[in-house]
Amino acid sequence: MRWEGKRYYPISQFYKQRFGEKVYKVSVSIAETCPNRQPNSRMPLCIFCDEWGSAAYHLEQDKSLQDQIIINRDKIAKRYRAKSFLVYFQSYTNTFDGVSELEQRFDIALALDNINGVVLGTRPDCLPKRILPLLKQTHDTHYVMVELGLQSFFDHHLDFLQRGYEAIEKLHQHTGVDIGIHLMFGLPGETDQELIETAQILNELPVNNVKLNNLHVLSTP
Ligand code: SF4
Repeated sequence: MRWEGKRYYPISQFYKQRFGEKVYKVSVSIAETCPNRQPNSRMPLCIFCDEWGSAAYHLEQDKSLQDQIIINRDKIAKRYRAKSFLVYFQSYTNTFDGVSELEQRFDIALALDNINGVVLGTRPDCLPKRILPLLKQTHDTHYVMVELGLQSFFDHHLDFLQRGYEAIEKLHQHTGVDIGIHLMFGLPGETDQELIETAQILNELPVNNVKLNNLHVLSTP
């Protein structure tokens, strides 16, 4: 048993060691779509995705980015006496809009008091080369983590799996940002051996954080 009595290294402790104090994520809902939701997309909607793009429902989702951050940051600060925050761009695919939009969003977030960095949720096949310099440049001055919704290393769509590996390598080599991976367990036909092999694969990759979700199907056609 290690890590505050847990058998895994909690991200709260990872952040505490990185920043020297407890850090809280302020999630915002800014991106409004993803490649699967485009009119001519041949990809179906992910069966676990809700109408808010796999984000927690936000009462403030219609407000500006600045207002969402301030409202949510201040609520957390009051509740937990928190002093240090990361802005979590959670909903949909946050690298699907243009680079200039993303840069403006980073500028707004990082100009606010007590915001130490950003966490950007996206998907491995939506990391165009043009976005890498912005991630690197932001990482040079602030903390940046990119969280990739990989879901499974045993996805039978090998193209998607290959893009997962490529995205991790690309981010690692060209930007230096921290990398988080979202994995989903409970997929039909999944075996215990696949879970073990997933952990082994992850140990070989430059991944800083892994988020495990159980498969939760909201509805089926
Ligand atoms: S999970 Fe992400 S990629 Fe899939 S439908 Fe939802 S927003 Fe789109």
